[in-house]
Amino acid sequence: MSVHRLEPGNESETPTPQVLDAIVVGAGIGGVYQLYRLLQDGLTVRAFEAAEGVGGVWFWNRYPGARVDSHFPHYQFWFSRELWDESDWTETFPAQPEIERYVNHVVDKFDLRRHITFSTRVTSAIFDDKSGTWRVTTDSGETLVARFVVFNTGGLSTPKIPPFKGHETFAGVSCHTSHWPTEGVELAGKRVAVIGTAATGIQVIQTIAPEVAHLTVFQRTPNYAVPMKNPKITESDLKWMRESFDELSRKVRWSRGGFVFDDPPYFKDVPPDQREAHMRAIWDSGNLSIWGNTFADFQSNQQANDYVTNFVRDRMRERIKDPKLAAKLIPTDYSFGTRRVPLENGYFETFNRDNVTLVDLREDSIVSIDASGIRTRTGHHEVDVIIYATGFDSGVGSINRIDIRGIGGVSLRQLWSEDLCTTVGMQVHGFPNLFMTMAPFAPAAAICNVPVCVDQQCDWIADAIGFVRSQGLTSIHPSAQTQQAWMDHHRAVSEPTMIGRNMNSWYRREGPDGSKRELIAYLGGIPAYRRACDEMIASGFKGFELV
Ligand code: FAD
Ligand code: NAP
Repeated sequence: MSVHRLEPGNESETPTPQVLDAIVVGAGIGGVYQLYRLLQDGLTVRAFEAAEGVGGVWFWNRYPGARVDSHFPHYQFWFSRELWDESDWTETFPAQPEIERYVNHVVDKFDLRRHITFSTRVTSAIFDDKSGTWRVTTDSGETLVARFVVFNTGGLSTPKIPPFKGHETFAGVSCHTSHWPTEGVELAGKRVAVIGTAATGIQVIQTIAPEVAHLTVFQRTPNYAVPMKNPKITESDLKWMRESFDELSRKVRWSRGGFVFDDPPYFKDVPPDQREAHMRAIWDSGNLSIWGNTFADFQSNQQANDYVTNFVRDRMRERIKDPKLAAKLIPTDYSFGTRRVPLENGYFETFNRDNVTLVDLREDSIVSIDASGIRTRTGHHEVDVIIYATGFDSGVGSINRIDIRGIGGVSLRQLWSEDLCTTVGMQVHGFPNLFMTMAPFAPAAAICNVPVCVDQQCDWIADAIGFVRSQGLTSIHPSAQTQQAWMDHHRAVSEPTMIGRNMNSWYRREGPDGSKRELIAYLGGIPAYRRACDEMIASGFKGFELV
């Protein structure tokens, strides 16, 4: 690796760290592609990953039942036709081990592993105004200097465990789903509690119910969920996948959610007597098309939204034997599709089992945790294991754990605690040469099949870096006006949607005092977002401060 030195001549005082072209933080789907692309562009790069291996969420989330909700062949890297030609998949919705193996394969195929330092967390990144470089430190005590830093740290990588009183006194085993031990947790014949009933909780609950002695599910907000159809992938599916690469990759880039689906009709264009059949056909596909691809105006037309919501509620009700339980499990106070829609496999039937109890936290509440279990306002639940499926510090949780200081020593964490803002979710005014993926105010933050959206972000970042280098510049960051214009646009297009109107979801990030909940999901659509990003490149980054 060729390196040059910052401020030559200072070596006699303190050793000057090597100046890398770029540092990549994180080795999930985003970080792996970012590293690949920057190396391809001829940069000197080092990547750091807190985990012992690659895969990001697919390294950390080993809980029982962990698998994707993105159906074949969408959840994979899109940058290499060769990779597609040799990739094998066994299930329509691959499970965690298969995806982890796949990411490892990609890293080895492209010889990326030697560029990644594992089990090492980046703890700070400080911008030096004079040299226009970043001084980055890690928890292993290393200090590096780089011109560019990219935080591919993931929007769902910092777990959130509610601060229940007495949590630390529990004498059994307790574990957050995203820190599931590699050796597993003994669940057979145990009394188990699961707190949380969203995408993760649903997968855990439906998977472990048959093996545990008793399962107590603590539900705060009921969720809509739709059945997943998960047939095995055949040789002919793989042949089709390989032959379709060119067409799919062209279409997926301009798709609505990172999936290639047929364009849906407007609600008014489907006659009332054909709506049920239209819905049934989509329902039977067993994938996420039920979320975004029922009607083109599903997010803006209350009538369309009500129709889909009632259809889904009816399908859920059919599967729950006890009407009282159905009333607790079926959401009534928000409409379908306004939070992340999880897919499920027998989730609702799980509650027909004798060994499963639902605790409705809208009627009851968790008071504390003690040595033997969970105390609620109305009783005590003795358990051997507590599983926290309580989600993540979404959007910027992982970035906020790093001490990042831009021009004039301004702290990014502090800035964001007052005003959460980005420009197209990838840069922040005042933080030159610092980039991020899956951060707020881009489709990748929430509303996309992530490998597609993250791929576009990594390319945009590499193009911005390439622009700076090719023009003989030192740095790039958006002007305050450009940033404000993006935030105004985001709010104008995202807030009026059905998702925007639902205040209760991780798509809205709570401020530190819990009062302000900023909608982090950009809902202007992938095509509009892509065009905005492409125009920035085409205009030579007009509206950016280029030094
Ligand atoms: P991550 O995979 O989160 O990787 C970020 C990495 O950065 C982590 O490995 C972390 O350890 C590392 N890191 C963070 N901070 C530091 C630091 N300071 N120093 C060093 N390393 C650091 N999306 C879909 O589109 N479809 C799905 O079906 C789907 N299923 C999901 C299932 C689960 C259980 C979860 C949690 C998420 C799922 N997602 C899904 C969203 C998922 O976040 C993305 O698909 C994608 O994996 C994100 O990749 P990433 O590289 O951006 O982030
Ligand atoms: P989540 O959507 O944030 O859900 C967290 C759950 O914990 C919710 O049910 C929440 O209730 C509950 N909870 C949080 N704090 C609580 C408290 N103090 N008391 C009681 N309950 C509490 O997290 P997640 O399920 O891990 O999913 C996060 C995202 O990861 C998903 O939306 C998805 O993007 C991704 N994911 C994808 C898949 C997949 O594709 N297969 C699987 C898992 C995760 P409230 O709803 O009331 O807040």
